[in-house]
Amino acid sequence: MKRRIFFKLAGISALSAMVQNVFAYGTKNSVIDSNSMTNPFRIKGNWYKAALHVHTTTSDGDVDVPTRLQQYREKGFDVVAITDHRQTNDLSGYTTRKFLAISSIEFHPETYSGAPTHHLLGIGLPHPYKYNNSLPAQEMIDDIKSKGAKVFYAHPYWTGHTFVEMTEVSGYLGLEVYNDGCESTNSAESQIYWDQMLNKGYRLSGLATDDVHRSEKVGKAWTMIKADKLNEKSILDALENGCFYASKGPEIEDFFVDENMKVNIKCSPVHKIAFRINGAGNGRVFLSNDSQGLSSAEWDMSKKKPKWVRCEVIDKDGNSAWTNPIFM
Ligand SMILES: [Zn+2]
Ligand SMILES: [Zn+2]
Repeated sequence: MKRRIFFKLAGISALSAMVQNVFAYGTKNSVIDSNSMTNPFRIKGNWYKAALHVHTTTSDGDVDVPTRLQQYREKGFDVVAITDHRQTNDLSGYTTRKFLAISSIEFHPETYSGAPTHHLLGIGLPHPYKYNNSLPAQEMIDDIKSKGAKVFYAHPYWTGHTFVEMTEVSGYLGLEVYNDGCESTNSAESQIYWDQMLNKGYRLSGLATDDVHRSEKVGKAWTMIKADKLNEKSILDALENGCFYASKGPEIEDFFVDENMKVNIKCSPVHKIAFRINGAGNGRVFLSNDSQGLSSAEWDMSKKKPKWVRCEVIDKDGNSAWTNPIFM
């Protein structure tokens, strides 16, 4: 009897520790305040069009590595990270003066909560990488980071996660705000996760990716990276620093907050410009009322005292681009 009570109590205390662990978001996660961001529109450099989530026949894609890279070159991409599930590829020989192929991975550690596995991108993971499926999630992230890779959280909406699963682990720089592959299940956009994490104090950036598996889906979404040069170090540094924006169509030309707390955006003509800040009901939408569209907007945030602001612009065909947040 006593033994049974002991085990029952031990069970409850283990369960309670697990619950505390899962719900202790914002306490053990070292992402908070550790991620500095550089405004790509306010520094010198060149823009490079990047595909950062790409599959080949090494995992479940429809064509091999050279064919996939050629498809992206033909679509005008400068940078391609091949992110096959649980394995890297030998990409030596594909990088030229005008094209950068980056050995990368999509990895799938178990969640601590029992929810479906995390999907994470490790961009810039040297080949070969010995994948250890049994590593706990945080150890797997830390191991992949220790090899120099930049880690991003992939498609949380598709995975069916809440932001609690995202806060189980740390060390990622941002999330996929848009994953075109998830259009097939109507779960491509993860903006709400982004805002929830930003409101909890996590300084995360946002990528747009194809997550391409089939050739007809190449080049639907991309990340525009501002960097000094087209080489792996400059591109990975820019990813680390949030020096990019995400798009599936519109171009963003400028985004800044002036000394009077007015936020400004300049972009290719769009139908809608939406600023988003933290707090209840806090945001502002500008709509175009003619066929010319809007190519700039300014909003006075001085009374709102926001902690962060980001912007989404949407063209007349419904294609968006997303800036990274600016933190006050
Ligand atoms: Zn995935
Ligand atoms: Zn994928």
